[in-house]
Amino acid sequence: MDHDVIVVGAGLSGLQCARLLEQHGLDVAVLEASDGVGGRVRTDLVDGFRCDRGFQVLNPAYTELRRSVEVAALGLQPFDAAAGIPHGDGIDVLADPRRVPRRLVETLRSPCVELRRLPALLAWLAPGLDPGARRQEEHDRPWHEALDRAGVRGPLRDLVLEPFLAGVILEDEGRTSAAFVRELVGWFLLGTPGLPAGGMGALPEWIHDGLRAPAVLDTRVRALERTGTGWSVGAGDGTWRAPSVVVATEAPAAAGLLDLPATPMKGEATWWFAAESAPSELACLVLPGRTGGPLVDTAVVSNAAPSYTPDGRALVQASALLPRGAALPAEADVRRQLGRIWGADASAWELLTVHEIRDALPEQPPGRVVDRPAALGDGLYVCGDHRTTGSTQGALASGRRAAEAVLA
Ligand SMILES: Cc1cc2nc3c(=O)[nH]c(=O)nc-3n(C[C@H](O)[C@H](O)[C@H](O)COP(=O)(O)OP(=O)(O)OC[C@H]3O[C@@H](n4cnc5c(N)ncnc54)[C@H](O)[C@@H]3O)c2cc1C
Repeated sequence: MDHDVIVVGAGLSGLQCARLLEQHGLDVAVLEASDGVGGRVRTDLVDGFRCDRGFQVLNPAYTELRRSVEVAALGLQPFDAAAGIPHGDGIDVLADPRRVPRRLVETLRSPCVELRRLPALLAWLAPGLDPGARRQEEHDRPWHEALDRAGVRGPLRDLVLEPFLAGVILEDEGRTSAAFVRELVGWFLLGTPGLPAGGMGALPEWIHDGLRAPAVLDTRVRALERTGTGWSVGAGDGTWRAPSVVVATEAPAAAGLLDLPATPMKGEATWWFAAESAPSELACLVLPGRTGGPLVDTAVVSNAAPSYTPDGRALVQASALLPRGAALPAEADVRRQLGRIWGADASAWELLTVHEIRDALPEQPPGRVVDRPAALGDGLYVCGDHRTTGSTQGALASGRRAAEAVLA
């Protein structure tokens, strides 16, 4: 089993790396521990509903996505560029007036929008509008601290910005790099995220379909051993050899295979419910407001992405943060809060599945936005979102950089 390159892991970064190497004529073997490709981006079909493994969205503005993937082929179904905030007897909608002009008046009337506080927020956001540029901020700091220093205050921060971002970066304590958070907000301002017709898993499958040699599944790499001419990789029942090995696993597995410091991970859980009818016509994310409970966001996914439901029933996602060591919130608490948010009886909704993802995203403390090198020396390479940013963009970009390093 001799190859030019062995790629360990068939997530977005590994698939991207393998595809670019194959395009340069190299013979690449992709070894994947699980029973499918995609890593953290997979979709389960449950009674005909598409339930992504953890609610996530695809932002078509990501430069690396546009560069690598025929996005039109995915049939992206956009969410509205808006967020819902529940109040006593309904849901306030705050929308980006450029993309959802019909909601301009409603947005301006929202008690969350205080015009005198907008300049501070806009000044803080402005640099994020160039997220493609490498940002090595001299004074990167925790994002809550950065918001304090920029004078961003009030209900727009407390009820909209912070909860929305907590659901994206999967922490609500404010410890993540402000430079990274601002970069993420920039992507949201530039692109309207959506869901592929076939589910989020269609993205890695599209890249995988372009490979000459499909990934070898159910093949967990146990160890990498240096030989005279390259590397010997013990995986499954066999041994694989190549002069170069790219470790494209998530951070904890990479630390186990390579001499790398451990990267702590953040967790989240998503409950997927089928409801006989949609509790609302909104096709945007709805934040918890002051409803109290474990949830960080919810959405009637099938309002935005009709392909996610097999029939007229609605698919509702509800997500919560899972801090290290925290127990999975009780389903009864999730249903109660959903009832308060949507103003509907969620007790009768059918639970399709719940995804509990303890290692969802790598921690991204201040000063860590800068890309870390792919080449470790001696024919060993590493890629994955823990080397760049915890995002689809970061994983794809990291895979590209590893391929370029191998080719160099
Ligand atoms: C719930 C959730 C929501 C998210 N939401 C968004 C979002 O909305 N927008 C966004 O941009 N990003 C989002 N992300 C982040 C994005 O999905 C990830 O950053 C990206 O998918 C990581 O890809 P990767 O290739 O680095 O790692 P992974 O996808 O983790 O791939 C690593 C692969 O390596 C395999 N592997 C591990 N160990 C071994 C071994 N020993 N041998 C062989 N194979 C091995 C694993 O099985 C896996 O397939 C979300 C992530 C999660 C989990």
